Amino acid sequence: MTATAISSIATGILIVCIELVRRRNKRNRRIRWSRTNFGRDSVVSTRDVADVERKIRRIQKEGADGLFLVVDFDHTVTDFSGKQCHDLIESSTIMSSVRGYREDWQELWRICKEEQEAGTYVLQQWWERAHAILVQHHFRRSYVARMLDAEGPIRLRSGMRDLFEFCRARSIPIAIVSAGITNFIDTILRREDMLHDNVAILANEMIWSKEEETDARLVCFSSPAVHPGSKGQIRELRGAFFEKHAGRRNVVVLGDSIHDASAARNVLGQTDARTLSVGFLKPANDDGTFGWRKLPKDTFVDAFDVLIEGDRSAAGVVELIRGLAR
Ligand SMILES: [Mg+2]
Repeated sequence: MTATAISSIATGILIVCIELVRRRNKRNRRIRWSRTNFGRDSVVSTRDVADVERKIRRIQKEGADGLFLVVDFDHTVTDFSGKQCHDLIESSTIMSSVRGYREDWQELWRICKEEQEAGTYVLQQWWERAHAILVQHHFRRSYVARMLDAEGPIRLRSGMRDLFEFCRARSIPIAIVSAGITNFIDTILRREDMLHDNVAILANEMIWSKEEETDARLVCFSSPAVHPGSKGQIRELRGAFFEKHAGRRNVVVLGDSIHDASAARNVLGQTDARTLSVGFLKPANDDGTFGWRKLPKDTFVDAFDVLIEGDRSAAGVVELIRGLAR
C-alpha cells in the first residue's frame, strides 16, 4: 500500500471520528425535560412528559432561527402582586373624581353578573363596554404614565428581564398577546428598557384625538378587541406580526390564564405539535380553586404543557428557551 493510500485512509478515519464526536456532543447538548430545570423548590406539573420531550426535540432541530415566543403580559411578564391593566384604570384615583365614572364601572359589573347568571355573558362585550367608559369620560394620554406612577407598582416577574435580553441577543421575536392595553404595556416595557426591536405588542391600543398633541383625548381603541376568549384567533386579529415571521414554525407560549394556552392553538396555522405552552399558576383561592372562574387545578394541568405553581421566577423558562435555541 502506498503512502498516499495510507494517508487517505487515515484522513477518512479521522473525519469519521470527528463526525462521531460532533454528533455525540450535539446529543449531549440537547436538554431533557426535567422539573429541576425550573428550580429545585418549584412545583411543576406536566400532563405528558413524553409529549413535552417530543416537542422540545422538534423545536431544537430548528433552534433560534425557527422559534418565536407568544407571551401574555398581565401576571405573566408581571408577577401576581400587581394590578392588571383594566383593574388599574378602574380603581385609579385620577379618574375617580370624574362625575359618573365609578357608577359606570359599577353598572358594568352589575350587567356582567346578571349576564353570567343568565348564561348570556359574552367576553368581548365586557371589553367593548369597558373601553366605551374610558372614551366617554375623556381618558387622556397623560393619564397612562400618571396612573402607572400613582397606582403601581407593577412588578416584573423575576427572570423576565433575562428572558427578553436573551431573545434580543438571539433575534427571537416576542409577541406580547394581551387582553390588556398596548399603551400601558408599552410604557412599562420602555421604562424597564425591555422594548427591543424583536418585541411586538398585540393588545388593545388606545387611539388618540391628535397624535401630535401631548395630552390628546382617547377617541377609540383598535378593533376588534383582544380579550381572553379571542387570544386563540390572534393570528387573524393582528396578522402583520405573523406574516413578518412566517418562516418561523415553532412557538413557546407563556401565560397564566386558561385562555393563554389557547393562544397557542392556530397561532401557526397548524396543529399545536410545534407549540410548547408554559403556565404560571396563581396561588389557590380560599376554597382550593384557581382564578376568578374558580377552576380546579387539573384544568390548568390539562391546558398547559408545563405548569409552574406559585408566583415563581421565570428563570426556569430562560433555561428552557436557552436549550431550545441552541
Ligand atoms: Mg394574564
